[in-house]
Amino acid sequence: MHPVIDRFIHYTQIDTQSAHKSDSYPSTKKQLDLAKLLVVELLALGLEDAAVDQYGYVTATLPPNTEREGVPVVGFLAHMDTSPDLSGKDVNPQFIEDYDGSIVVLNAEKGITMSPEEFPDLKKYIGKTLITTDGTTLLGADDKAGIAEIITAVEYLLDHPEIEHGTIKIGFTPDEEVGSGVDHFDVEKFGADFAYTIDGGEVGEVQYENFNGARAELTIHGRNVHPGTAKLKMRNALLIGMELNELLPVFERPQFTEKYEGFYHLYHFNGTVEEANMTYILRDHDRDKFELKKRLIQQAADFINTKYGETIVEIKITDQYYNMREEVEKQPQIMAFAIQAVKSVGLTPKIDPIRGGTDGSQLSYMGLPAPNIFTGGHNAHGKYEFIPTFAMEKAVETLVKIAELVAKG
Ligand SMILES: [Zn+2]
Repeated sequence: MHPVIDRFIHYTQIDTQSAHKSDSYPSTKKQLDLAKLLVVELLALGLEDAAVDQYGYVTATLPPNTEREGVPVVGFLAHMDTSPDLSGKDVNPQFIEDYDGSIVVLNAEKGITMSPEEFPDLKKYIGKTLITTDGTTLLGADDKAGIAEIITAVEYLLDHPEIEHGTIKIGFTPDEEVGSGVDHFDVEKFGADFAYTIDGGEVGEVQYENFNGARAELTIHGRNVHPGTAKLKMRNALLIGMELNELLPVFERPQFTEKYEGFYHLYHFNGTVEEANMTYILRDHDRDKFELKKRLIQQAADFINTKYGETIVEIKITDQYYNMREEVEKQPQIMAFAIQAVKSVGLTPKIDPIRGGTDGSQLSYMGLPAPNIFTGGHNAHGKYEFIPTFAMEKAVETLVKIAELVAKG
């Protein structure tokens, strides 16, 4: 078996699920089990400074073997945790060799299957070997495949000193799935000029655009009166909330948008006649359209207040993250290296915008531009997660190629 597969299977055996509500960092202690194992593995490969810090960040350096000067320091990043959405304990990976395009039986006993009708991407992998779950847990290819690919690429470079490369920094982070993966990440100490997160999906994918994101929290103050004597006295906060929602563009909701289309998403609404609370997230790849969305929801609140003649709607809008494109494009070679590497291993680059945020977007605004590269995995965060083995091998080749291209300049 290819070493990347062995490594990946090994890592899936360690439960690293993160948790949304936690007072500690990392959010779950068990993520450190994998962190410690990775340090041992990196030390065994000869990366002498491999270590885990107080927050659970694993870092290591592959020293340069080139004489060339001015070669940028490149970072490879992946996250250790798996999604809180489904258990990552007792993961039992299944190998489907020479996949024939039929329905995949994940668990015969429990009758859990995965059909190419529902998951058409399966058809792309006829004749390939797939690794799936047993239908009871997630697989954890997101992002243990990324970790396995990075370490295997480093091992390959160590075994092939004829391939010249500059300094390569490795970083494995906790808590990505709960949105705090880089909260304590020290960009300066990490010391890379730019980086790549290896946390994407389908083979060939390279991503450098994500949403700009903001959250709008609204409080609506109503006035409760006994409904029997409410005439011209009651002000129903719930109905005013609905009225406000109707002022926002109907077709700019998640269920009607794709690709570069942004949205207003009402994801929380509760309350009473007396008081109601609504929370929206606003998303757009385009900075101007993003700002416009923030203005429009503010204007909707202002309109309601004007209409009722007093401040009954309070609104608080908070920016969450920005599209990394602005930062990544300042150094065009970052994407150029990735695209050229993907092509040179015989793949067609797939450059689609991310409809969400990533650790890379936060890092980009912390001074470390970090587009995202495929791991090869599909259907992350659930029991239908799978990864074709050849895609993992291609990811390793891509990373080796990036190291080589960066050294050539
Ligand atoms: Zn991930």
